[in-house]
Amino acid sequence: MQNAAEIVVQRLTKDYGRFRAVDDINFEVARGSVVGFLGPNGAGKTTTIRMLTCYMPPSSGQARVAGFDVFSQSLQVRQNIGYLPENTPLYPEMRVEEYLDYRGKLRGLNRTARKQRIAEVADRCWLTDRLRWLVGKLSKGYRQRLGIADALLHNPPVLVLDEPTVGLDPSQIREARKLIAELAGRHTVLLSTHILSEVELVCQRVIIIGRGKILAQGTPDELKQQCARAGAAGSRLLVEVRGPSDQVLSAIKALPGVEKVQVLADGPVQSLAVVGRLDAQLREQIAALVVQRGWALREMRIGGATLEEFFVQITDPGTSQAAA
Ligand code: ATP
Repeated sequence: MQNAAEIVVQRLTKDYGRFRAVDDINFEVARGSVVGFLGPNGAGKTTTIRMLTCYMPPSSGQARVAGFDVFSQSLQVRQNIGYLPENTPLYPEMRVEEYLDYRGKLRGLNRTARKQRIAEVADRCWLTDRLRWLVGKLSKGYRQRLGIADALLHNPPVLVLDEPTVGLDPSQIREARKLIAELAGRHTVLLSTHILSEVELVCQRVIIIGRGKILAQGTPDELKQQCARAGAAGSRLLVEVRGPSDQVLSAIKALPGVEKVQVLADGPVQSLAVVGRLDAQLREQIAALVVQRGWALREMRIGGATLEEFFVQITDPGTSQAAA
């Protein structure tokens, strides 16, 4: 077995005229894994994917897919990669089977291979009962399945899916995610998305890109821990107190070790997020204060870091820090 990384990106850069859309990025995707490629709009995801799928050449740097160089071995890269673009171009007047057959021909599959592969991908993507349907009559969810079936037709080891669940309804989204999760192991999947819950559900690792740079990469849990360590919004003490709001707020703010108190909900019961040195001593001080003033402590717990908070923290230009 050669290198266990199926996608290797080294110092990859893309300039559109004087604008640098992808700026000297490095990452690897291990064989058989599903990796989320995450970033806000305009971060450089599609540009990176277009370079990996040989739709456009890099300005500098290199990338290898299944061991082949995207610049000098584009034919081999295309044979080893299945690509689901953000907007799959489908032909509405063709029947599903006909469309897949046509796509198979374009990829040089012979008649026997096409027949066999169409049956396989239709089964894999739960399309068997729609093979005779006109593409134009398919629901958005079935069209997306067809796009994935098309990307799988030549049985490529690597799949690149650009926003595969955009525009689907919740049950279609669940099905699409189930399908993607099932592709892991047999295929290496790079999944571009801006939906964080999607990443947590289907991806073993996450690469976060912002303004053309890799801002962070790791497992979802590693990123959450990084968020908590950095003292971001994730590591905060959530406190619920019944008492006069202004007094509760100012008394907690005045405690030693408290850096910031955010009001999450106001009213007869205050819901507060306390940021600072969140040790046992501070928690005891808050409890004692509440009792001493005759207020009531409803709840106190350390808020778990979420991937969303981490994402906001590192992609927000105001607070951004490169963490890779
Ligand atoms: P989205 O989620 O909105 O698709 P993205 O992360 O895929 O965003 P890209 O489409 O790669 O981002 O775009 C990265 C940057 O490059 C953006 O600022 C975009 O405006 C710019 N850009 C993309 N394509 C071109 C082009 N052909 N010419 C000039 N600038 C471009």
